[in-house]
Amino acid sequence: MSEPSPTVSFFRSLGLSEVLLKVLEGSTYKRPTPIQEQAIPAVLFGKDVLGIAKTGSGKTAAYVLPVLQQLLEARWNMQSRHVPVLVLVPTRELATQVEAVFNELSIGLPERVRTMAVFGGVSINPQMIGMQGVQVLIATPGRLLDLVDSKAVHLSEVKILVLDEADKVLDLGFKEEVDRVLSLLPRKRQNLLFSATLNAAVDAITQVVLHKPEVIQVTPEPQEVVLIQQRAFRVPQERKGPFLRYLIRSMDMRQVLVFTASTHAADHVAEKLRRNGIAAEATHGKKSNQARQQALADFKNGTLRVLVATDLLSRGIDIEFLPYVISYDLPRSPKDHVHRIGRTGRAERPGEAFTIVTPEDQPHFKVIQKKMKQWVTLESTDEIDLQGA
Ligand code: ADP
Ligand code: MG
Repeated sequence: MSEPSPTVSFFRSLGLSEVLLKVLEGSTYKRPTPIQEQAIPAVLFGKDVLGIAKTGSGKTAAYVLPVLQQLLEARWNMQSRHVPVLVLVPTRELATQVEAVFNELSIGLPERVRTMAVFGGVSINPQMIGMQGVQVLIATPGRLLDLVDSKAVHLSEVKILVLDEADKVLDLGFKEEVDRVLSLLPRKRQNLLFSATLNAAVDAITQVVLHKPEVIQVTPEPQEVVLIQQRAFRVPQERKGPFLRYLIRSMDMRQVLVFTASTHAADHVAEKLRRNGIAAEATHGKKSNQARQQALADFKNGTLRVLVATDLLSRGIDIEFLPYVISYDLPRSPKDHVHRIGRTGRAERPGEAFTIVTPEDQPHFKVIQKKMKQWVTLESTDEIDLQGA
């Protein structure tokens, strides 16, 4: 017999089964990331897990792999339209992305695992029809409740609940919906919560996790190279637009994600870039689902140079090799700042994150840095000639 590949041995030692090891051998994963190393055995053991690890560190597979294994091994006998695995996510884009990871990691399994992503902004009918036999349901809270109300799906037999970007799902904006979802779940279940900015002390967590959870926090190694290079520029309000164009052009950015504070600002910034000959699209909550998915797809495949987004896209979205992120407006919350810059520097690839700070923003920028415990020198831009930018 030939020696098993190192990939297989790394993952086997976590308790993953042969069929999943085979999938991994055919994948790009060579060895588990630290959060995967710690979370996978705990999830397989049936524990509740709070998994906290930085953006881009492979949290998705940290739950997808052991959840798939439990599904295959437990062979839960479900009543019609009762799902065993429910994954709650804050955005449509993340729902689609998580579904893709479930599919990617279940290719070639001896049995097909039926997954479905559901979210608002699209017709509910195909979702209602497709629900029969679904084993892994990935959902945004609002649409999930619509489907529950129309009896397309029942949550009373859920075995495993996953909250991806858990702190966002549990924050005030989703509170009523998530409370209702939780009230529909059986008390006995496994709870898996993942985020880069999850505070184990947050009250809302005790509402989800009834037993003492295994808190897995992967803190970066002190000697770890800083993959994301951060810079901040002081720019007066009226020079922000020209400065953005100057940055994009002078650094020859081919793919850059720009964050604004509002949907209105996103539209405006994208429009201004287009008028100056830079291909840009805006994406935010007021756009149609079709437009959102299209813009993201074009951006990912490199046909769209600039994607201007609200913090909707700061959560969880994985864009391979994204080299640049620019915060055009500061986010209100320091957490969002962490998630924004975390769209670059993923899976050990380097990236650069730039923040534009107006003189009025300076006190708030201090607050953000203090919360992040990271200090970035504020560079003056007064000397830069922006004529013609
Ligand atoms: P997070 O949720 O922690 O922000 P993701 O789960 O989105 O991170 O993963 C980030 C990227 O890393 C993805 O492109 C994913 O395919 C890749 N990745 C995850 N696990 C591994 C691994 N073990 N080996 C190589 N790449 C991985
Ligand atoms: Mg994630």
